[in-house]
Amino acid sequence: MNALEVSDLSFAYGAREALKQVNFSLPAGQFAALLGPNGAGKSTLIALLTRLYDVQRGEIRITGHSLRKSPRPALRQLGVVFQQSTLDLDLSIEQNLRYHLALHGISRRQGAARIDAELARQQLTERRHERVRDLNGGHRRRVEIARALLHAPRLLLLDEPSVGLDPASRLALGQHVRQLCREQGLSVLWTTHLLDEVHPSDELLIVHQGRLVASGRADAVSLEHGGSLGSAFNRLTVPGAC
Ligand code: ADP
Ligand code: MG
Repeated sequence: MNALEVSDLSFAYGAREALKQVNFSLPAGQFAALLGPNGAGKSTLIALLTRLYDVQRGEIRITGHSLRKSPRPALRQLGVVFQQSTLDLDLSIEQNLRYHLALHGISRRQGAARIDAELARQQLTERRHERVRDLNGGHRRRVEIARALLHAPRLLLLDEPSVGLDPASRLALGQHVRQLCREQGLSVLWTTHLLDEVHPSDELLIVHQGRLVASGRADAVSLEHGGSLGSAFNRLTVPGAC
């Protein structure tokens, strides 16, 4: 079963169309990069997938559950790291995670084991009592990923997670999340406007002005539309470029 299915999804802010008939699906264990320039519609898609906005036209299914008809089971399978960090800087790593569990109605006893497991997976166990304010950007992102995975979702959404990170942290974060896909069967949708975050074997979705203009394995998309990812991206997203 697909972790995510998006069918004929369109969305407008008043008269401004932000997404136009978007179709794609994401199998279990797949890392997908959603690549598009600023204003392409990436965050709008994340807002619809997380039900921040209601779907106007089309359908979203998460692990087979329609987000419109069965929002609870659909959202239970979803973990999210938003573009802007939503951690409380004055709380410790562990306190931030506990707060999230309380919001999800997970008991403290059951939650404690999950916190231990996620901290170990993100290699943050030793730092659990440190204040988030004292962590660098890469570690803060790891805390956010740990938090997003606490309720054991099957699909993880990350909206431009590498913004503000130095090159080494960006690289480490990408490797880390791909490893979660390989080893845990997690499906990931990672949005970015940076070409170098896309690996040849990733599933690639290119969005431009609200339309999905290309999709498939990144190396195949590159080959089909220009040879390198850079020339493919230019052809598909820059008017008049060849
Ligand atoms: P991205 O995340 O790819 O940069 P967005 O989804 O934020 O793109 O934006 C897609 C389009 O929708 C842009 O033209 C943007 O200006 C517009 N937009 C985004 N949010 C709003 C909003 N709250 N009200 C009106 N227009 C918006
Ligand atoms: Mg955005």
